[in-house]
Amino acid sequence: SRYQELVELDKKHFLHPTSSIKQQQEKGPALIFTEGKGIYVKDIKGKSYLDGFSSLWNVNVGYGRTELGQAAMDQMEKLAFSSCFSTFSHEPAILLSAKIAELAPESLNTVFFTSGGSESNDTAFKLVRYYWMLKGQPEKKKIISRRRSYHGVAMGSTSATGLAAFRTFTNSPLPDFFQVDNFSIEALLELIETEGPDTIAAFISEPIQGTGGVILPPDNYFTQVREICDKHNILFIADEVITGFGRTGKNFGIEHFGVTPDIICFAKGVTSAYIPLGGLIISEQIHSDLKELSNGIFFHGYTYSGHPTSCAVGLKNLEIIEQENLVENARMMGEELLRGFQWLQKEHAIVGEVRGIGLMGAIELYKDKTTNERFESPIAPGLAAELLNNGLICRGVTYEGSDMLAFAPPLVINQEEIAKIIEIIDKVLLNFEQGLGR
Ligand code: PLP
Repeated sequence: SRYQELVELDKKHFLHPTSSIKQQQEKGPALIFTEGKGIYVKDIKGKSYLDGFSSLWNVNVGYGRTELGQAAMDQMEKLAFSSCFSTFSHEPAILLSAKIAELAPESLNTVFFTSGGSESNDTAFKLVRYYWMLKGQPEKKKIISRRRSYHGVAMGSTSATGLAAFRTFTNSPLPDFFQVDNFSIEALLELIETEGPDTIAAFISEPIQGTGGVILPPDNYFTQVREICDKHNILFIADEVITGFGRTGKNFGIEHFGVTPDIICFAKGVTSAYIPLGGLIISEQIHSDLKELSNGIFFHGYTYSGHPTSCAVGLKNLEIIEQENLVENARMMGEELLRGFQWLQKEHAIVGEVRGIGLMGAIELYKDKTTNERFESPIAPGLAAELLNNGLICRGVTYEGSDMLAFAPPLVINQEEIAKIIEIIDKVLLNFEQGLGR
């Protein structure tokens, strides 16, 4: 059959990103997706799935938006590509940078484009080093990040990533990258003291850790971080690759915490994944210092920095988010999702802590939630597979001793669809608990 044919070709020729190579080569792909509409995707066998994860936290406006296809087609017909190097420019990149500046916190107004989150973070790391060089402090080049963070897989971003599985893979972390314990202000201060503030360029953090398991900071964490950064002349980079453009119920996740970063990195949601695009937004302060002090070339730029077709899709996507009020919908539906999780927590002995902000949420799984005792081996992967069998896509997270299910449905989701998610989880958990004889 066509399906078998594709499986064999996949096994032979396709090395999957972030995959078990051995399992992939032996078994082939578990699912071959063919189409999507709204929050649902369909596989080659015709089975439909509610995508409770927006693929990779990124199909924010849902599947099958012909307006986005049309925007790409119109731009491709007109001017598919044109470089933005040096003095060349074009309308889609100009208009999208202006639109992003409008959405971003007031003092962040200048945009550099990349093709994704990893490139954005690597650009930020180079940019902050360049900045301190120009300011006459070339020794200020260290980057501090947090444990459990995820910042991508390029050399800089993988070195900043706090999840050990990624950072230590192939022994690749670069020197000058440091991680501190999550939310420990003490650890941050201690590291700054030990290394010396004059050697530290920037602190990078996701406003809400995504890949690490939807981990929310304590209320005053970022206020303290901002104060420490200001005091020690350390730039604060917010990695908003997941949280940017509405996912958390605000334009940017950092807005929840009442502080303004010096740089915001973005990707995913800027185009709702319809086409690759990422970038960073820098503060007026950094921009004006760069303008004043830089007298050579800024030797950094990707061929596709400001790709016109990507930018045209980005513009249309941000227009959809605005017209359909999706940031507010994410906030309201996020509350609905969290209420659903709280109900699951009451109903199920294995559901411990539940949490969420906007449309990012997680439920923690325990053998005994009264003592926070975990199962001998994590149950999240098995449960995620069972949810998939029941038509719901989510992610089982087992990094560094955790055992949880994470959710991030498209921002277009409605109340009935949230109820459907809760109903499927409820059914699968019931089955699982019955299997335990509870
Ligand atoms: N930063 C964060 C917070 C992310 O979640 C991701 C990807 O999931 C990245 C960076 C890397 O982005 P990309 O995979 O587009 O390179």
